[in-house]
This record gives sequence, C-alpha cells and structure tokens, in this order.
Amino acid sequence: MKNIRNFSIIAHIDHGKSTLADRFIQICQGLTEREMSNQVLDSMELEKERGITIKAQNVTIKYINKNKKIFYLNFIDTPGHVDFAYEVSRSLSACEGALLVIDSCQGIEAQTIATCNMALKMNLTIIPVLNKIDLPTANTQRVIQEIKELIGISTKHIVKCSAKTGTGITELLDTIVTKIPPPSGCINSTLQALIIDSWFDNYLGVVSLVRIKNGKLIQGLKIQVFSTKKNYYVNKIGIFTPKSKNKNYLHSGEVGWISCGIKNIKSFPVGDTITSSKHPIKTSICGFKKIKPKIYAGLFPRKTENYKLFRIALEKLSLNDASLFYQPEFSHSLGFGFKCGFLGLLHMEIIQARLEREYKLDVISTIPSVIYEIQTLDNNIVYIYHPSDLSKYKKIKEIREPIARCNILTPIKYIGNILNLCSNKRGKQHNIIYHSNQVTLQYDIPMSEIVVNFFDQLKSSSQGYASLEYDFKYFQKTDIVCLDILINTKKIDALSLIIHRENSKSQAHKIVNKIKTIIPKHQFNIVIQAMINNNIIARATIKQLRKNVLSKCYGGDISRKRKLLEKQKKGKKKMKQIGNVKIPKETFFSIFSIK
Ligand code: GDP
Ligand code: MG
Repeated sequence: MKNIRNFSIIAHIDHGKSTLADRFIQICQGLTEREMSNQVLDSMELEKERGITIKAQNVTIKYINKNKKIFYLNFIDTPGHVDFAYEVSRSLSACEGALLVIDSCQGIEAQTIATCNMALKMNLTIIPVLNKIDLPTANTQRVIQEIKELIGISTKHIVKCSAKTGTGITELLDTIVTKIPPPSGCINSTLQALIIDSWFDNYLGVVSLVRIKNGKLIQGLKIQVFSTKKNYYVNKIGIFTPKSKNKNYLHSGEVGWISCGIKNIKSFPVGDTITSSKHPIKTSICGFKKIKPKIYAGLFPRKTENYKLFRIALEKLSLNDASLFYQPEFSHSLGFGFKCGFLGLLHMEIIQARLEREYKLDVISTIPSVIYEIQTLDNNIVYIYHPSDLSKYKKIKEIREPIARCNILTPIKYIGNILNLCSNKRGKQHNIIYHSNQVTLQYDIPMSEIVVNFFDQLKSSSQGYASLEYDFKYFQKTDIVCLDILINTKKIDALSLIIHRENSKSQAHKIVNKIKTIIPKHQFNIVIQAMINNNIIARATIKQLRKNVLSKCYGGDISRKRKLLEKQKKGKKKMKQIGNVKIPKETFFSIFSIK
C-alpha cells in the first residue's frame, strides 16, 4: 500500500486536465505509441465533440522513479463544467490528493476555486500545477499571486509544466509520489469499498468502479451492498491501464472495477458502500454528496411506439449518471413520456444528444423548470416543478423559488456589464471582492434565471473571460404565475411554463410572437394565445398559406424544384401534429431562450 497514490485532477474547464492525464499515461507507458490516440480518456464520442469531460474515469498506471522505485498511481480525470460538480465530489472522496491544474494564460477561474474548496474540505493534499507554460502568453508569476490571493493555499510545491509538450511532467510525477500520502486503511479488516461510478456494459452487465477503503475484494466473494442489504457474488475484477485488465483481487487502497454479472442496473448505486456478506460493516462510507436535480423537463418520444425503448434507454443512462432522474408522465399534446430531472442545461442537452445518438431516439423536450416550494394554508410543504401543478393547489399561503449563491470571477473591466446582467436576472448583490487583476462578484440569483441562459450571457458580456460557479442556497418567497399557451383555442400543456408575475405580460407577448415565427403557415389561420388564470393576455395570428413553395420556380429547373420539395419534406418530418396544427419540435424549447 505504501507505493500507491490516489489522486484526482481538478481544474476549470479547458485548463488541461485531460491532456495532462494523457501525458501521464504516455510517460508511464500505460499505452503504446500507436494506441495512444489523442485524449484517450475522453472516450465518449460526445465528449470529444464538445471537448469536455463528462464522466470521471479512473486509470491505474505504473510509475518508476529515477531511483527505480515502483509506484502505482490511480488518477481520476474529473469533469470541469458547473453542471458536473457532483462528479468531482464523487471522485475526490476516493483520493488522498488532488492536482489543481491552472492554465497559466487564463489564471484562476471560478471552477478552480470551487473545486479546490471541495478538495480542501475533504482534507486532500493539493498540488498546484501551472499548465500551458509553453504558450507565449503564460504568466506564472501572476497565477502564483492569484493562488495566494484567491485560494490561500501554499505555493511552495507548485509545479510548472506543459501537458502538451511534456515539459515538467516527470517533475510533477515525482512531486505526486513524495507529497501525496499513500492510502490508509487495513487489508485485514472487514471489506469496505466505495462505489465511485457504475455503468452498464453489454457483456458484463453492471460494472462498478470502486475504491477499497479496508479489506480485500476477491473474485468469487459474496458481497453485500450497504443500502439495499442485497448480496451478490463477485464475478470479475479488474483495473484500467487505461485498457481493461483482469485481476484476481483488489486490496485496501486500490481502485478498480468489479462486476457481479447483474442485469438489474439499480443494484449498485453510486456513492454506496460494498461490504462482505459474511461480516457486513455497521456504517457506510460517507463523503458523498446527495445529488438532486436542479431543473426538470418533460421528454417525449416523437414516435409513440418508441416509448418502451425510451424507458430502457433512460434506465441505462441513469445508471451511468446518478443525477439523472425520470418518472413516467402523460401529456395531452405529446402523449406518453417522462418527466426528467437534470443538473443544468448542459446536462439536459447531453442526455438528449445521447438518447438520439446511442439509442436512435428522437425526443421532444418541454421547457425546463426549477422546483418551487409551496406552503399551503394548512402549513403543508409541497414541491412542484410542473406548471400545471400550480393550479392544483388552491389554498396557497406562500410560494418560494430556489435561490443560488453565485460566485462570478471576472477581469475588472467587464464589471459594469456583469452588474447589469445580474440585476436583469433579479439578482441581489451579496459581496464584491477586488483582487489585483480580477474581481469576485457574489450574487444571490433565482435559479430559474440561471438555468435559462445566464451562462452564455455572462460569457458574451465579458468576451468569454468571466467564469461562474453556483450552488443552491435557500428558497425565497416569490410571485409566480402559470402561463398557458393556446393554439387555435386548444391549450397545449407541453408549452405551459411558470414565470415571474412582474414581467409576465411582456414575456407573454414575446412568447406568442416567437411561436408565430416558428410554426409554418397552414391552409388556415392559426391563432396563438397566451393565458394566465383564464385571461388571455397576448395573441398573434399566423395567416393562412397562399402560395405553394414552387410558385417562384418558373420553367424547367427540376433540380431546384426537387431541392425545395425535399426541404419542405424535411420540415414536415420534424413536426408534431397537434389537432390540425403541425408544430415543429423546436417550438417547445425555443420559447425558453427568450429573454
Ligand atoms: P480539460 O477541459 O481541463 O480536460 O482540458 P483539455 O485537456 O481538454 O485541454 C483544453 C485545451 O487546451 C486543448 O485544446 C488542449 O490541447 C490544450 N492544452 C492542454 N494543455 C496544454 C499545454 O500544456 N499547452 C498548450 N499549448 N495547450 C494545452
Ligand atoms: Mg477534459
């Protein structure tokens, strides 16, 4: 155990975590040159496309230092986006140390501070790593200053490196083995293992990544899952190097995967503890944050016959992703589907994209909503996230909305823009702290305003420099209403949304006008109305279609005609027929980007 080091790589997005992980693998020759494709850890196709890490992954590599001493390094590449903070906390609880990677050109950003604080809370040894020193704009002096000012951790063991060129990487590996303590724990005591991650493998069934805290996990052993008290036999054990490699056992301090040949994907909940059936432990390993979704939206398969496949897909995705919540739901306009809970918009987009790509499912999404807390007259507390639920409770004493404490870090020159943005989002200033180059703005902002497109607006009001980190803080009294949308007098439940009463009128106008631009002309007039409490407060009309698409196309240009017809056909395919009106898929979501 003395030669094992478990650590995570934490950083703000794009500061170089994945690249650094790749460089470690290459230097320690976990992979041959040929196998070393660029960024092996970001294996999910979607991750490559977006250039972000979604799932934390573990790799065990062998490092031999200059004195020929052998070390086994378990490192976990963590995601850096705000939506995925829970993945980071999960990874961290399996480690003794963390590399805090900072881009030497960008300096410290909001997530650098947020993840570093998480690591500090868990008492991990933190090694600051100044990355990208190969770039001419690198300014390590400034970053060191920022570490002192903004984080306050020791800068004594800082390592400067370039994950891209490999400069300083060996020095970093040496710092890791000397500064990060080996895991504690006892091989001879009762088995206690933490489930860091679980996923479904088509051949092995449920596979879980575990960190053994105490004892030994042996092939064939009868184990028990702490929360369910269910027993299973360990079928296969292994590690990732990053290629999967079978092993006969894992002992305390080690990290690896196990599979019990289970098909029921709910058997190995992430964050749970595995113990032995013979001598089960009395307490679970704690340290895992319970994750609750921050936004909810309805997802419906376009084709009703895909409902069953959709359910299976969500089941599988939710094993891979502990934060994904789903529950069957019926909508009058969209049929059978699921109410789903997500950590944020990016998370929602990723799930949708995975449903489309991995399961070939075409899904329609309704407008996302946050959770509201309702106190009834008889002092019951209920939580709702569905607009139609608002009308279910007649005797309401108070409605409260979730408020997030936001930490925004920005270069000083954008402060004006950002203060404006925050006040437009009904934000309340909590604190402003000036540092040498940057400023930290602390705001309490309603979650409903953040989940929409706050992040994008923040980026565009600061030329991309401002960064954001937020967390739910409390519920606060609010005045909200349910806005219903009618199309040719038929209420479309999937288009209802909860909005703040203050600007509900102007909002309603914007929404009907937006829908007007999205729904194509039909053979008849289409009337779009917005309604609050049965009062129509906005309306727009889509005039009936007069000319056909080919009317402008005189003469014989057949290829152009075909193109137009093709385009029309494509447009048709993407529609959802509601009554006589065909509504494009985008309608349901587009409303929500209005601000
Ligand atoms: P992550 O989001 O923290 O995992 O960041 P990535 O590892 O995906 O890196 C983000 C970008 O920075 C990629 O385009 C990398 O090629 C680049 N990058 C990472 N490390 C270095 C470095 O040391 N030098 C330079 N020049 N670019 C780097
Ligand atoms: Mg990455």
